Amino acid sequence: MTDPTNTGFNTRAVHAGQTPDPTTGSVIPPLYQTTTFAQDGIGKLRNGYEYGRGTNPTRDALQAQLAALEGGEFAFSFASGLAAEDALIRALLLPGDHIIMGNDVYGGTYRLINRVLSVWGISNAAVDMNDGDALRAAVAAGGPEGKTKMVWVETPSNPMMKITDITALAGVAHDAGALLVVDNTFASPYLQNPLALGADVVVHSTTKYIGGHSDASGGAIILSDAEAAEKIGFVQFAVGAVSAPMEAWLTTRGLKTLGVRMDRHSSNAQEIAEWLLTRPEVEKVLYPGLPGHPGHELAARQMRGFGGMISVQFKGGETAARKVAESTHVFTLAESLGGIESLMNYPSEMTHASVKGTELAVPENLIRLSVGIEDVADLIADLEQAIGSL
Ligand SMILES: *Cc1c(COP(=O)(O)O)cnc(C)c1O
Repeated sequence: MTDPTNTGFNTRAVHAGQTPDPTTGSVIPPLYQTTTFAQDGIGKLRNGYEYGRGTNPTRDALQAQLAALEGGEFAFSFASGLAAEDALIRALLLPGDHIIMGNDVYGGTYRLINRVLSVWGISNAAVDMNDGDALRAAVAAGGPEGKTKMVWVETPSNPMMKITDITALAGVAHDAGALLVVDNTFASPYLQNPLALGADVVVHSTTKYIGGHSDASGGAIILSDAEAAEKIGFVQFAVGAVSAPMEAWLTTRGLKTLGVRMDRHSSNAQEIAEWLLTRPEVEKVLYPGLPGHPGHELAARQMRGFGGMISVQFKGGETAARKVAESTHVFTLAESLGGIESLMNYPSEMTHASVKGTELAVPENLIRLSVGIEDVADLIADLEQAIGSL
């Protein structure tokens, strides 16, 4: 199969960018663990490959796969999600420009924009993306120079699981002459394709669901605008925060099974969320698959499933949340998410420690579950004994 463009998601996941090696017929494209490429004469490159920071066939294969799965023309892969975000902003914005971001974006994204990029003259404001009036006012105000150039959203958001209407938000951003960037890490391209809903750029931490096995860090930018893509490609090459060949190869391998993994993550999470609702110790279950979730209907419209992430708030406050987080045996207490194994996180002190005390602070009675693909009965039994210890 050479052109899987018009095929279903899982066929594209398995075949896009995965042409068998022309030299040996190796069904799996080889891992090109190299930094440089022999030239047949000065400047006479074989298939355009010259130097690893610029291009590498293993990275190209991953980028083709990512573009095919997000429905974009161009994809760029980086050493981490934050490296991708940094490259995106520095490629497309200039000092004096302004970014509006959701007030519950990933803590590291907030830190990058608010503490690193602000020093270089890119201002920002954080708003509730579901508060239309506040959003329009912030976009119109556009920071000190009145130049809103980018609107940045996560949906579902991390860890509050808020759902934002991507198409409506694209309208607000475009009216102001700004780009809409969607961090699609939580949904993954299997459950949601922001470009098809009107977004201009998709970013991913491929460290999470796309890689899916907690063994390779990475980030990606996917988009269809050729002019913007050229600028991003230049920054990727000139700054060099590229994904290493081994990481790209592992990410490609993980991405092939994204569909089957997401189906299991989603069905396990749905069952666990419904079970948590029945527990008297639980104050609130934040999961878009629950009919009581404020974003349920919107999520059902713009996503193809509800994903594997659940946040839970406990009546017993911080003490109860900490106790549960430290009492599980199948769920591992660790940062990160999206791997095949179930992880438990206490955001206030772990993933979101960088926003403690800011307007983005996470409630202290909240734990976040990244529901893995284990047998759901074992996961529920584990949570039952942990919650039972309260
Ligand atoms: C983890 C994460 C990031 C950052 O990605 P890294 O690979 O850790 O740099 C960005 N956005 C979201 C939603 C994340 O979960």
